[in-house]
Amino acid sequence: MARVEYDSHMDRLPRSAIPRVLLLAAFLAWPPEELVAPPVPEGSAGAPPVILISVDTLRADHLSCYGYSRLRTPHIDSLARGGTVFTEISSQAPITLPSHVSLFASMYPFADGIRENAEVLPSGTVTLATVFAAHGYSTAAFIGGYFLERRFGLAQGFQTYDSPFDTRPIKGALDLKRPASQVLANAEKWLEQNSTRPFFLFVHLFDLHEPYDAPAAYRARAPQSEYDQELAYVDDSLGGFLDFLAQRGLDQRALLVLFSDHGESLGEHGENTHGYFIYRSTLHVPLIFHWPRATEDGNPKIEHGNSAEASRFGLRGSALSDYRERVDAPASLIDVAPTVLSLLGIQAPPTFCGHSLLDLAKGGSSPPREVYSESSYAHDKFGWARLRSLREGDYQYIDAPHPELYDLKRDPGERQNLLPGQTALAASYRERLAALVATYRSVPVAAQTATAVASGAAEALRSLGYLDITPPESALDNSGVDPKDRIFEYKRYLLAGHLARIGKADEAAAEFQAIIADDPRNLPARVELARADVALRRYLDGAHQLQAALALNPHNVEAEELLGDIWLAMGALDRAAAEFRQLLTYAPQDYEAHMGLGLLAARLGQASEAAQDFRAALVANPLSAEAHYQLGLILELHDQKPEAVREFHAALQINPQYTAARAELAKLNPPAR
Ligand SMILES: [Zn+2]
Repeated sequence: MARVEYDSHMDRLPRSAIPRVLLLAAFLAWPPEELVAPPVPEGSAGAPPVILISVDTLRADHLSCYGYSRLRTPHIDSLARGGTVFTEISSQAPITLPSHVSLFASMYPFADGIRENAEVLPSGTVTLATVFAAHGYSTAAFIGGYFLERRFGLAQGFQTYDSPFDTRPIKGALDLKRPASQVLANAEKWLEQNSTRPFFLFVHLFDLHEPYDAPAAYRARAPQSEYDQELAYVDDSLGGFLDFLAQRGLDQRALLVLFSDHGESLGEHGENTHGYFIYRSTLHVPLIFHWPRATEDGNPKIEHGNSAEASRFGLRGSALSDYRERVDAPASLIDVAPTVLSLLGIQAPPTFCGHSLLDLAKGGSSPPREVYSESSYAHDKFGWARLRSLREGDYQYIDAPHPELYDLKRDPGERQNLLPGQTALAASYRERLAALVATYRSVPVAAQTATAVASGAAEALRSLGYLDITPPESALDNSGVDPKDRIFEYKRYLLAGHLARIGKADEAAAEFQAIIADDPRNLPARVELARADVALRRYLDGAHQLQAALALNPHNVEAEELLGDIWLAMGALDRAAAEFRQLLTYAPQDYEAHMGLGLLAARLGQASEAAQDFRAALVANPLSAEAHYQLGLILELHDQKPEAVREFHAALQINPQYTAARAELAKLNPPAR
């Protein structure tokens, strides 16, 4: 597993509680009986398996099948042969978790509530994976990057969810990603056991997300940029995976869908990565459907002899002639899940907001779609204005304190704001943007809550605390600081984060202090300064910064976690306990809080409390080697040796390099003489 530093500009924020009513109510009303039964019978040959591949942070315009000329991506291109390339797809949010949730739940971020990384999708959310599970499919996911880790909730519906990213913030460096080769090798292992019955496989490749560390061999392939080097590496890795599929006929039987969650700005508009702005550089993503080749007898159709190239994705079975090679109509990632289900003849759940692209792919026409995107990053992180956009046809309108309107056909790089010239056109886009938000914010909530109330579920909702919420945002509110006007400050914040990540904690601290001097309400700068203070062993300074951060927002999970950890490290056990307990009042499943309380109880000799806390930590994060290890220590201390051995084995299974766990095992099971 690649060890990389914590990517501070995409860190955690508490999620809003607003949409829980919608999500839980939807859960209580779902799945309707007619959709649950009959499940796909085991061994059924009729249903094509589905393989969904997310190449995180991949710009559509860096693929040769989308016209890129500085690098060839032959393996991804091979999916386009006998497939359909959607050339104008937008992400709903240029941030990993919200974008993937939008795709899986087919909902807008303001409706599903996941607008930032490190928020938690409530259990019971209806997603593509839960629908497949309800229809008897085997479901598995193999995750390349931390932001889709199990604890953030995308795992629901998956029987296998491989995301081994065990993290504790006080350590400074976290396991953030693992290379494509490793993710795909695990997926292949799973396929070897599971590909004979209907399955849904999700693969997430995170290599294109900075920091870049492609194997040295790729430098010559793409000397122009490290980004392209990672892309060449990912394309090669996918080539191996597609060969694996071809050897098993899965290239013929399966529906393969490749997409990205967002692009990468690579310097455009002053932004180097993604998340902050909502320009095309980060919203425009690839989407390729490679259709299954069904024939009358249910067997793959082979037409072109045995040449490897022809047998792998070059075939055109009879059914394939139905599909267009390219679809240029603008559409959204929320349309992916409805498309997949409609191809399989599975009714889309009522919570899905997207529309199937199948008609378009088959050459039909459909009315122009309104494409909505947003970034809440600057809003949630720094308290600045939220950005939202509506695209229809050639125009993209961006709602902000200083709004923008672009003609994407003439100006795909969005360099010429048509405002203040085209005010009437902009006003009509803004009106439709407000209408879209109002529709998808209120209608599904009303419909689902009515269903829930009718079935007596309101009591259940209330008892779980889901009805005790603040009202949803009332309208488009674009007051406040325009992120465009703070790009300099934002880049300074990123630079300071970079200094911290490369080990220059003292320089980073000075930079964060300067940011706070300019803007004392900059909460993330305070949290990052505290992190730098911890690295410099200035624990008390760090604690003061975190207290100031919590005064700005008493529900900042990250500040509270780190503060608890600092008190714990300083031996201020009562204070640590108070922070962790406070954290659990608004984040009851918080892994850090349960781990912290467990360590505290262990230190005070309260064995049963400690064991209980470590078990709760394992519920929050079942793949925590550390929680297994700590639980093992407690059990060992209290003579529950077989149980302790089991926990140490579990820790080693997750992390074979866990030497402390190995040492305890050796103590408990001394080698026979
Ligand atoms: Zn991403």
